[in-house]
Amino acid sequence: MYFCSKCRKQVDSIQDLFFVQDNSQNGFCSDECIEKYYLSNVEYFEKKELDLRTELKIFDINIVERANHQTLIDQTLKIPSRVFILQNDLGDKYYQLVKYFDQESLIVLINCFILDKQPSFVFNVVTTDNKVLVDALKFKNEVKENVLSYQNISEHSSFSTEDVDQKKSEYLAKLIENRLDDDIDFEQFNHYDEFFDVTINEPDEILHHVDDMSDNIFIFIKALIKDDKSFFYFVICCGGENIQSDELVTIISFPTISEQLYKLFRLGKVISGKTVN
Ligand SMILES: [Zn+2]
Repeated sequence: MYFCSKCRKQVDSIQDLFFVQDNSQNGFCSDECIEKYYLSNVEYFEKKELDLRTELKIFDINIVERANHQTLIDQTLKIPSRVFILQNDLGDKYYQLVKYFDQESLIVLINCFILDKQPSFVFNVVTTDNKVLVDALKFKNEVKENVLSYQNISEHSSFSTEDVDQKKSEYLAKLIENRLDDDIDFEQFNHYDEFFDVTINEPDEILHHVDDMSDNIFIFIKALIKDDKSFFYFVICCGGENIQSDELVTIISFPTISEQLYKLFRLGKVISGKTVN
């Protein structure tokens, strides 16, 4: 038998409980119970922000009235620039997702839990143009490995399946046509699937390109190493007005060691460069 960790209501199976952290004993019967259970944590994070703002005299809160605030939050939840972690002795892992926008003139910091590589429960969102505030709020430990997977990438497409299939065959044809004999063999491509997530989540570059059909194409590129050999991994997506859109669909992903192929597929304008550490 199972009980809600907040209200102690009994539920029949573990499937009836909602969890907010990986490997956590705390399961809940409803969103309301989750919110009540973590209320003191929310208050802690909110108070910390307010105290620091008071101490540092930073009152740029009006910044959150920007029309695209929710979009900025969504983008931070999906592809943060940096991730920090605070782990307590009970095994609770608090994550901090930080994203810099507009040449770091706008910063979003989100305190949250992560479940199954997705942000689950958000404690609070801090939006500021002040790096001092962000530095003061930041947890000490930065997470370098992948904690989030950009799963929304294949969901909610406004493109029809036919459109996507059409693009898939176009890009595949382009790839086949221009591939050099000494490049990574097609048969080996599935051995590189493991690099998909890291390319999406921590790309060296994201480029935006409008193709012949006037569709938005987003190109994620990352330089990686496998078996002591360096290569580029490409993930090419279509759909959506912009990169923070939920409507991106993967057209093709592939590894290459060819400079020529790299140049051929690296199209458009760079919209996100390497994260500065
Ligand atoms: Zn409950």
